[in-house]
Amino acid sequence: MEEKNGRSIKRKVAVVGGGLVGALNACFFAKRGFDVEVFETREDIRKAKVVKGRSINLALSHRGRQALKHVGMEEKIISKGIPMHARMIHSLNGKQSPIPYGRKGQFILSVDRANLNKELLTEAETYPNTKLNFDHKLQDWSAETGLMTFARSDGSNEQIKADLIVGCDGAFSAIRKQFLRRSRFNYSQTYIPHGYMELTMPPINGEFAMKPNYLHIWPRNTFMMIALPNLDKTFTCTLFMPFEDFEKITTGDEVIEFFQKYFPDTIPLIGVDALKMDYFRLPAQAMVSVKCSPYHIGDKCVLMGDAAHAVVPFYGQGMNAGFEDCLVFEEIMDQLNEDFSTVLPEYTRVRAPDDHAIADLAMYNYIEMRAHVNSKWFIFRKHVDNILHFLMPKTITPLYTMVTFTRTRYHEAVDRWHWQNKVINRGLLFSATGAVLGGSYLLIKSPPEITKLMVPAEKMWDRLVLLWTP
Ligand code: FAD
Repeated sequence: MEEKNGRSIKRKVAVVGGGLVGALNACFFAKRGFDVEVFETREDIRKAKVVKGRSINLALSHRGRQALKHVGMEEKIISKGIPMHARMIHSLNGKQSPIPYGRKGQFILSVDRANLNKELLTEAETYPNTKLNFDHKLQDWSAETGLMTFARSDGSNEQIKADLIVGCDGAFSAIRKQFLRRSRFNYSQTYIPHGYMELTMPPINGEFAMKPNYLHIWPRNTFMMIALPNLDKTFTCTLFMPFEDFEKITTGDEVIEFFQKYFPDTIPLIGVDALKMDYFRLPAQAMVSVKCSPYHIGDKCVLMGDAAHAVVPFYGQGMNAGFEDCLVFEEIMDQLNEDFSTVLPEYTRVRAPDDHAIADLAMYNYIEMRAHVNSKWFIFRKHVDNILHFLMPKTITPLYTMVTFTRTRYHEAVDRWHWQNKVINRGLLFSATGAVLGGSYLLIKSPPEITKLMVPAEKMWDRLVLLWTP
């Protein structure tokens, strides 16, 4: 509230973009008592027959849940999610091996994107100080006056002014375009060579076709497929592959040949005819990583969610980071008494290093998920990390745990991960050296009949790995 001539006036906040982050942000600002208006280019998805948009389901984890909790939405969303306790790795020969995400009881949730968005819009609307405007596409806005121009589908324009503009209009943000016209705005975007395509695995006899409480992964080094469960007992499979490989497959028979070679266990589960059709339903979609800074202009405008930091989807953190943006902004609003002139720069100062860190980590996981999970060393190290975390929870925390199950700042998680890696690798090196020296000593000192019984050195490694593999 602001005082003017002895009267208190509610300040107006315009949230541009009614996607996941915009709808949640509207709840945050409404809860604080601002006069909130959301402007969304699409029609109201709660009334639409077909909901267009990216991935069908998403992995929700701790950061996102904490933000939902703040506006009283956590339980409602969790009740419609499916817990995934581990990755389930599918090897070429059909063998399935689980790699747990964290300790017992820790899980991520598969949630339906459209339902989540609808629930958040409905929640925002329950505040009497919130108005949702659909079919409003932001065309232009002024950083000096806060005046925004929206285009409607009937060809008309509407002009609206706000005290604060919150840009939640996604990776190709129209709000961000004004930032690009200004000096000292850093911006980079990278398209990765991979695209993604979604395929549906139907239920079999009314039940899930695979174990439901896992995020299934078929890592194939240069490409991979993942599958997340849905409430209707289907799985949404997402194939991530270089565009040039997508383009090489041009007929239904080639699709089946490709799946026979790389994902044979999925053919009977998806179905030959469905595969042939689904593959050509939509072209593969591109994935972009966007980094920028600062996130604000004066006391007038701030970017959040994908508008500030689109990340590739391989850490399952894009939405979670966007939801956490709302929470971090909220915390700074508390600290600085809702004074936009100090809150906005502080938000950039605090949040940009963390969003940049998760963008980098997501790129790192882009390789880890499709290639490293095939490596015995990777699996061995994951188990070492988990065991050390079990023995010394305060000293060693796996990176995935910090990112997914805590609110450790992303950039601090990365720093700590580098430090831990150094310590653990040195420890392993010392242990291995000690073992080799000890073994050599025994060999020299032992009688020949004992030497014969010893395991040859080249077999030792395989046995060690087998010992750690679940
Ligand atoms: P968006 O969801 O893009 O919403 C932006 C909104 O703004 C849209 O509704 C759009 O219509 C509207 N808009 C755009 N332009 C205008 C305009 N000019 N005027 C008015 N409105 C406008 N994240 C996770 O946390 N976990 C996952 O498992 C996960 N999986 C993913 C899988 C894939 C394949 C992809 C592509 C992404 C995934 N993500 C995941 C990332 C997640 O989808 C995004 O981070 C999240 O959608 C960002 O939300 P947002 O509201 O910032 O942007």
